[in-house]
Amino acid sequence: MLDRIYFDHAATAPLRDSARTAMMPYLLEEYGNASSIHGTGRAARKAVEGARRQVAGILGAKPEEVYFTCGGTESDNWALVGYMLSHQAQGRHLVTSEIEHHAVLHTCDFLRRLGFEITCLRPDSSGRISPDDLKKAMREDTTLVSIMWANNEVGTLEPVEELAEMAHAGGAAFHTDAVQAVGAVPVDFSAVQADLLSLSGHKFGGPKGTGAMLVKAGTRLEPLMHGGEQERKHRAGTENVAGIVGMAAALEDAAKHMEEEKRHVENLRNRLMGGLLERIPGTLLNGDRERRLPGNCNVSFLGLEGEAVLLRLDLEGIAASSGSACTAGSLDPSHVLTAIGRTREEAQASLRMTLGRENTEEEVDEVLRVLPLIVEDLRRMRR
Ligand SMILES: *Cc1c(COP(=O)(O)O)cnc(C)c1O
Repeated sequence: MLDRIYFDHAATAPLRDSARTAMMPYLLEEYGNASSIHGTGRAARKAVEGARRQVAGILGAKPEEVYFTCGGTESDNWALVGYMLSHQAQGRHLVTSEIEHHAVLHTCDFLRRLGFEITCLRPDSSGRISPDDLKKAMREDTTLVSIMWANNEVGTLEPVEELAEMAHAGGAAFHTDAVQAVGAVPVDFSAVQADLLSLSGHKFGGPKGTGAMLVKAGTRLEPLMHGGEQERKHRAGTENVAGIVGMAAALEDAAKHMEEEKRHVENLRNRLMGGLLERIPGTLLNGDRERRLPGNCNVSFLGLEGEAVLLRLDLEGIAASSGSACTAGSLDPSHVLTAIGRTREEAQASLRMTLGRENTEEEVDEVLRVLPLIVEDLRRMRR
């Protein structure tokens, strides 16, 4: 009997052992403030700068292009608000997509209230943003384009390289929310030619409350946090030394084992996705069949509420998600699923299962056994 099955890695992933081991000394004996000049402080500074080089090396950036933040949300806020504020003289128009995480979309709402103009691109039915659509949306006063690397709900991988090229051709900078991509698929900051890239530690096995933004050298960016001179005067606040070290260790571990973890997770996901489509009539696949994150499975069971399925799965000790974690609890259909053309009912019938490296075939088979019974039962109750 499996006591707990965790299929919600897009919400957060368990801490990697390597991260835990790397963090322990900085939670205990090496407690220094990285800004202090004494030996205890210097040990902390050394750890932070080592982590910066590690993160830079893995993601194809220079160490001076890495800024540590408290997570994906902060990085997204900083990228959008910081860039728009520092480039207002050039223009006040930003282009993004309808399927971004709320960390981007709600920041856009804030920018609108400050008088900036936002255009949201609609994806196709697989969740893909078209570079041609971006080209048409670009204006003389467009200063920034922000399109995610991979979607957190349906897993669709966006053509970020082409989108970055299109943004630059139109004279704008390019930001990508790569929170779901980093650690899951290869991400190279310099190859994709992005100007700004957000990542979050807890999505790839680092500690919660850690993240970074990669900022291309020479990019002007207004700070959001004011205070001390940390992060080259661009992000005030005492560094989360243990968190930063843990995030870098997790990233290193993820990068080192990426090929095998990707293969493993993808095999499990295909077994799960194929099994559900085959065994449960009236199941729709949400997102692209091929161009999606290795661990993402998102389906709609027609005629049901995803929330109801979720609660029944929880009673069986199985953790999944309906809609995104941030909107769970509200009954609004997911903005991502409606943007890709799902009806309100289809969107509300969705269930997202996101797999990770520690999941097993046995767990997938258990879900494939339990889920058809739950769906059948709930459908029977509705009749
Ligand atoms: C989780 C997530 C975020 C927010 O990151 P936090 O570190 O949890 O603040 C932003 N964007 C995407 C795509 C995410 O999946």
